[in-house]
Amino acid sequence: MSLRVRIAPSPTGPLHVGTARSALFNYLFAKKEGGAFILRIDDTDKKRSDKAFEEDIKKNLLWLGISWDDSIRQSERTALYRKHLQKLLEEGILFRCSHTSAELAQEREELIKNKQTPMHRCKDRDAVLGGGILRFKNMETAPVVFHDEIRGNISFDPKILGDFSVARDIDSPLYNFTTVVDDIDLGITHVIRGEDHIPNTPKQILLARALGHTELFSYAHLPLILGKDRSKLSKRHGAVAISQYQKEGYLPDAMINFLALLGWHPKKQKAGERGKGQEEEIFSREELIGIFSLHAVQRGGAIFDPEKLKWMNGVYIRQMNVGMLANLLLPYLKDEWRKQAESDGLWWGKIVILEQERLGSLQDIGDRIGYFFEEPLVKKEVLMGGFSDTVRIASHLRSIQKIIEGCSAGNFTKDVISEKVLEYAGQHAKKEVLWPFRVSLTGKKASPGLFEVAEILGKKTVLKRLEYAATLLES
Ligand code: GLU
Repeated sequence: MSLRVRIAPSPTGPLHVGTARSALFNYLFAKKEGGAFILRIDDTDKKRSDKAFEEDIKKNLLWLGISWDDSIRQSERTALYRKHLQKLLEEGILFRCSHTSAELAQEREELIKNKQTPMHRCKDRDAVLGGGILRFKNMETAPVVFHDEIRGNISFDPKILGDFSVARDIDSPLYNFTTVVDDIDLGITHVIRGEDHIPNTPKQILLARALGHTELFSYAHLPLILGKDRSKLSKRHGAVAISQYQKEGYLPDAMINFLALLGWHPKKQKAGERGKGQEEEIFSREELIGIFSLHAVQRGGAIFDPEKLKWMNGVYIRQMNVGMLANLLLPYLKDEWRKQAESDGLWWGKIVILEQERLGSLQDIGDRIGYFFEEPLVKKEVLMGGFSDTVRIASHLRSIQKIIEGCSAGNFTKDVISEKVLEYAGQHAKKEVLWPFRVSLTGKKASPGLFEVAEILGKKTVLKRLEYAATLLES
């Protein structure tokens, strides 16, 4: 039988990094083994499901490059679920529970108070007609055991499952039921999902058997994703929606690489063969498909480290072709700046080359390059840095001004500028010359290569800024 896996998001929120990681592991596994990857939208909860979230989930999976071979929506399969519910009711495998929700709530509260597992076992388990939720008549006495590809054998005492609920009514099946019906119907072979679903698995196994599916699915429960404080990842830790990372200028390949390492790492010697250092963590999509295996997934929680993600994104930004990066950065510029960049691609490309080394995300560009587009705010105390002799610093600026005046505008390159300015700086305290020069041009204490910046600004602008800075010190 060919391998088939699925990702089954509930459209009750945007695509979350946890769901994206589960989708990716299923996807990599399917691609590696030549199987099929199916998207199932779990939208039976009519109140909480929203079409907009379904769209967000699909759009962002595709943005990550995770495409599916087939997709279904549970809300369109009510007739199938009803047919199976009806049959199981007739067979006496399900029954209608006569207890009111108030009675059930009270029972639950008492069990929790007495430190017992909350579950419900009905006295009357034969009701087939009337109202009441549909429950599984749990007659099981032997432990329910399954093999988890990551965790080994897991065994459950069937008693703690009680007569678990299966549907609110004949037209409102619940998660454990719909998931089993669909996993069987779609010919799913491997169920790969978050570890929070381990307690659901014995229920699903009992239901699968009741539906005549005797062959067990293979299971793999992925470790929880944790924040750096080791608590379950949530909004408290920062962005958890994939769309947010897209907005902030993370690249899909970097996201994929990062998500793949959330709980999985290739066997050490394999990584070693590729070289050392950072390279051990950088894997292209194709490489991931080639080396992914469920056996290398860890059991313990996986820490989501936003700084590592940013570092990794920077690695991918640096690997990018400049022209492509220049285009990708445009939307992150203010309108005015974007127009300027678009009207002079060559000039914009030079700025991009300068910044490419330094970006962690595309969004970072905005804060860094304002001085190329607008006159920077130059402050006297920044110009002076730690120096005290204002007259001397001003005179250095006047000297650079003269040097720049002597450069030809047609050959205003970083090499020409650096040769002349460094010759002058070499005859003085070098820092006293270069520091105020940098601040005059950028308003900042730190910037990319000063002479590259000067070349991009052009002779006229450099002269204007030197004049402004020198006058500021002289006034
Ligand atoms: N809709 C479920 C969830 O989002 C699917 C779990 C499963 O994969 O069975 O958690």
